[in-house]
Amino acid sequence: MKKDTTAIALSSLLLISSAWADAPAQIAQQVPGYYRLAVGQYEVTSLFDGYNDLSPSLLKGLSANKIRELLAENKINAERMPTSFNAFLINTGKHLVMIDSGAGHCVPQTAGKLLSNMEASGYHPEQVDTIFLTHLHLDHVCGLSDVAGKALFPNATVYVPQGEAEYWLDPAKEASAPENAKAYFAIAQKALSSYKASGHLKTFVPPASPIPEVQTAYAIGHTPGSTVYRFWSEGKAITFIGDLIHAPAIQFPHPDVSIRFDADAKNAILSRTREFNALVKDGDWMAAAHLPFPGVGHLTANHQGYSWNPAIYGPYRRATDVPLLK
Ligand SMILES: [Zn+2]
Repeated sequence: MKKDTTAIALSSLLLISSAWADAPAQIAQQVPGYYRLAVGQYEVTSLFDGYNDLSPSLLKGLSANKIRELLAENKINAERMPTSFNAFLINTGKHLVMIDSGAGHCVPQTAGKLLSNMEASGYHPEQVDTIFLTHLHLDHVCGLSDVAGKALFPNATVYVPQGEAEYWLDPAKEASAPENAKAYFAIAQKALSSYKASGHLKTFVPPASPIPEVQTAYAIGHTPGSTVYRFWSEGKAITFIGDLIHAPAIQFPHPDVSIRFDADAKNAILSRTREFNALVKDGDWMAAAHLPFPGVGHLTANHQGYSWNPAIYGPYRRATDVPLLK
């Protein structure tokens, strides 16, 4: 009897091991990096360009101990805060709009997936007719062009807020910038160069609306002309906030914490609080460049700061006539 059991156990083991041999682990594959969301009649697609890790030492305004404590509570590595590069498409029916373009070839190790994820989502770069940039940092502009500076969205007009253009595209500002910041000017200028040459680069002054479907507003501080974009359809709205937040585990409970990339920390904090309070009040969807992919969800206020309620995975539109389990 004992012998039989052993024999069965052995043969089961063999079956298991041969099953494993037939199904090698698919470690090179992840689900495609796009996520679709309905906002009224507008179809929004989050696109994953890649990721980076940020050191918690970049954060200012909270003790290192408290930061470590919050990261531990959120099961985040004490040395590395994982950070997505998200861009977004909005199909309004009249325009195919893209918000930002990811880090592209500027972060070759872990980014540059925007185009493949766009194709996986069913769109082609030639179909994008309008691009809005929240600001001109490299992780938002490098995806516009290839490494030689050639436009990757040949039919798109790129709209840059005036405050950004006046800073990053001004040779005098570049000349007077600290030596270690000069490269960022050159990167922004190169990413935009072929759009400029073809007459496809335009500036605008928020709250102007370059197309009727969008509302724009300055949310300065992170950069001199950082801008948020709001799309509204049939009583639903989504606001693209760019870099108003980088470290959710820290900055949602402590919105007064800034990051070293903020050019003007005081205004960055004021802009974050103002926009977050508006989002809580209005109930818009919020779409963020650096929150965990897809970077879309709702904000609510809590006793101290804000809570993030991310979008859930599911069909494009949830059926409303399904039986309710009670
Ligand atoms: Zn950024």
